[in-house]
Amino acid sequence: GKETRLRVVLRVRPLTCSEARRGDQRVVHSLGDGTVHVSAARQDATFGFSAVFDAGDSQEAVFEGSGMRQLVELAIDGFSCTVFAFGQTGSGKTYTLMGPLGQSETHAASPALLGLMQRSFACLLEQSRSRGSDLALSASYLEIYNEQIRDLLSPGPPCTLPLRWSKTRGFYVENQLSVDFESLEAIASLLLQGSQRRRTSAHALNRHSSRSHALLTIHIRSRNVSSSSPPPWVQQASACPSRQGTLCFVDLAGSERVKETGSSGELSIEANNINRSLLALGHCISMLAKPRGKRTHVPYRDSKLTRLLARSLGGSGVTLMVACISPSSRCLSETLSTLHYASRARRVTTRP
Ligand code: ADP
Ligand code: MG
Repeated sequence: GKETRLRVVLRVRPLTCSEARRGDQRVVHSLGDGTVHVSAARQDATFGFSAVFDAGDSQEAVFEGSGMRQLVELAIDGFSCTVFAFGQTGSGKTYTLMGPLGQSETHAASPALLGLMQRSFACLLEQSRSRGSDLALSASYLEIYNEQIRDLLSPGPPCTLPLRWSKTRGFYVENQLSVDFESLEAIASLLLQGSQRRRTSAHALNRHSSRSHALLTIHIRSRNVSSSSPPPWVQQASACPSRQGTLCFVDLAGSERVKETGSSGELSIEANNINRSLLALGHCISMLAKPRGKRTHVPYRDSKLTRLLARSLGGSGVTLMVACISPSSRCLSETLSTLHYASRARRVTTRP
């Protein structure tokens, strides 16, 4: 019940081959100690975060240094935990969360490139074994595409699901499929299946741009019974209600300027929907970042995304935000906007 700040970390991806080829300058430099410096013609600014990962940092370093492991443990303990990646399109959000999986259907990624999600799954299953507790695990996977919620795990063409609100549950998605799993292979294959059904399109900035926000949630039920026969005093503990935690991974579709990505027609309708929901998220974060006394109404209801993230942002969740940026001079204005947005998010608090 204590007020806890959102944890915000930053990841700067390497220059891509095409950025390097056309001679883009690197304008973002990590100074160590969680600070990053942006220097360009008329811009010169320093920002601080809980951690900063530079172009050379491995996926493992991001997992270990971001606090992701602790988040997994909190979810096992019954908290509602969320990690979300945000930033401009092509800044490395999907790569950070799932590694190169989203991009190649043919070969599996090398273990070193696995993202926060696969590492968390491994950690979760390992913890579940070592604690000897009886954990029941299941997963659901949704996307928000053009302001519609679609189930990525249900068979057949993605069906649209209604978003409801109740006093006890807050906002929730009705009839979403939740699939039980017990092994790493099973959850990895659910992730792959669902990700392949996500809406992506190619545009000028990213060949596999995600056109939807995707939310994969792991539901963790701990039944509090030990498998060996418990000593008498534990019998009482097993009578206490089971704990239920969640671990939710949110891969936000990236913000984009329609001009830069060369989107038109259907692509620009998608872009407008993406930008509108990100704007709504920005408004909620600005409001939540104000001291409690100065806060007025938080506009969660402005988009499906903010309704689904209401608990993570302002309620009882524990939240980790991974801001992703490109180091290139050409992305400067989007990079600065991501950095300002992420800095503001550091003042948001929840009561887990
Ligand atoms: P986003 O999801 O933000 O739109 P992606 O994750 O798809 O962006 O990344 C865009 C491109 O940059 C991809 O080709 C990806 O492989 C590459 N990339 C992103 N981050 C890294 C990184 N840390 N190291 C190497 N390549 C990266
Ligand atoms: Mg993506």
